[in-house]
Amino acid sequence: MAKDPVCGMEVDESNAKHTTEYEGTTYYFCCEHCKMKFEKNPKEYL
Ligand SMILES: [Zn+2]
Repeated sequence: MAKDPVCGMEVDESNAKHTTEYEGTTYYFCCEHCKMKFEKNPKEYL
């Protein structure tokens, strides 16, 4: 399981629909909303 850096929820990588890559690392999100928040300001969540 990966952790959604925005809300802290656990995300199943094999079934993840919402992912983004930042500085060479793939991040997984529970929903489009968390993904958008992360992409706006990734540093806030790392
Ligand atoms: Zn989330």
